[in-house]
Amino acid sequence: MKALVFHEVGKYSVEEVTIDPPKAGEVKIRMGATGVCHSDLSVINGILPLPSPMILGHEGAGVVEELGAGVTNVDVVIGICLHKYIRNILQA
Ligand SMILES: [Zn+2]
Repeated sequence: MKALVFHEVGKYSVEEVTIDPPKAGEVKIRMGATGVCHSDLSVINGILPLPSPMILGHEGAGVVEELGAGVTNVDVVIGICLHKYIRNILQA
């Protein structure tokens, strides 16, 4: 899948990324759409310092596709909206 990846202040690009299967306590979401909000711009320009690399576009909607071990309060194939940063899912 393609994602907007932040690398360092002022440096970001749309890249092909591989997503690991969900770990314990996580879910995998097939994103339908997402936007880039002001918080994402604050990460790009360094006002909001966060670790990198990081996929931006945390305000999106999609469908839960896969559950990690121990996830019991979410059903597969339900719509979901999210507003949280997605971290540490890029492979080195
Ligand atoms: Zn936001």
